[in-house]
Amino acid sequence: MAILTYRYRLKDATSSTHLLRLAWACHTVWNFCNEVSLLAWRRDKHCVSAFDLINLCAGAGHDLGLHTDTLSEICQEYARKKRLAKKIKLRWRSRKRSLGWIPFKGRCVRLREGAITSKGRHLRFWQSRPVGGTVKTGSFSQDACGHWYVNLQCEVETPGVPLGHAEIGIDLGLTHQLACSDMAAPYSRANLTRQHEDALAHAQRTHKKRRVTAIHARIANTRRDWAHKVTTAIVRRASLIVVGDVSSSKLRQTRMAKSVYDAGWSQLRTMLAYKAIRLGVTYRVVNESWSSVTCADCLARSGPRGLRALGVRGWVCPACGAVHDRDLNAAQNILRVGRDTLSGIP
Ligand SMILES: [Zn+2]
Repeated sequence: MAILTYRYRLKDATSSTHLLRLAWACHTVWNFCNEVSLLAWRRDKHCVSAFDLINLCAGAGHDLGLHTDTLSEICQEYARKKRLAKKIKLRWRSRKRSLGWIPFKGRCVRLREGAITSKGRHLRFWQSRPVGGTVKTGSFSQDACGHWYVNLQCEVETPGVPLGHAEIGIDLGLTHQLACSDMAAPYSRANLTRQHEDALAHAQRTHKKRRVTAIHARIANTRRDWAHKVTTAIVRRASLIVVGDVSSSKLRQTRMAKSVYDAGWSQLRTMLAYKAIRLGVTYRVVNESWSSVTCADCLARSGPRGLRALGVRGWVCPACGAVHDRDLNAAQNILRVGRDTLSGIP
């Protein structure tokens, strides 16, 4: 069993007024929790729990037009956030600053083809793919552009046997985002941040806030779409996936910062991980140090080193004479390390 979140875009034209009103009600509940928690702390140094908050909110749902489950979900989420932040109070949620968020339980909604019924109200959405499994929880949420989405968290069956048989090592990079050990050509796309740089700068200079948000959303959407397509293609033909643990925090200080941000390594890794679990593919993250300088054939550490060597695409191993493509060689090394850890070799 695995939990998957399906996200669909709602048809705003018919539902946004209704959802905005509900979102306001949710903000009100949230702010009430905030107020109560602050007062309780000031008066008796008591930290209110989700249970206390749910009891205090009892009966408010009718006036606010919210389901009881929605109320308790908000209280629980508030308590959880407060515990994580280790604070007495959190930020207030306002209609202007905060994005709309309306949680619900799977048992209070009904799904039909392209529509969801919640508290007797039909909300239509673009059903880009079928919903699998049973809906446990979900929410309506708003993005920075003001578009509404419905998120459904479903419990789905996971098949035990993967679709493919390939063992794939993956090297995440900057020039080519993703190189696989079983493919000569890496997966590569244009640097999206750089592509939209001029338009973004112009919008920022002329203080066009909505345009800036729209461009950022476009970049994020394109990146996510590309990542989904590539990771799905990889997971479908694999039985073992090994990824390097390359971290962006070190490179963020250098002049590659923009490329690092654009590459979205953690997004790619997250997608690979959950898609691998879903299809029963073995997934490993390994330490990738030395992977780009080690020769995959003779294991000599003879490749080009240092940050400057990032520009070198290919090299010849002086020890054994093998010709290497930088990314492919690194991917092969990562796969070797992954196989070693699986078979217990340190
Ligand atoms: Zn060699």
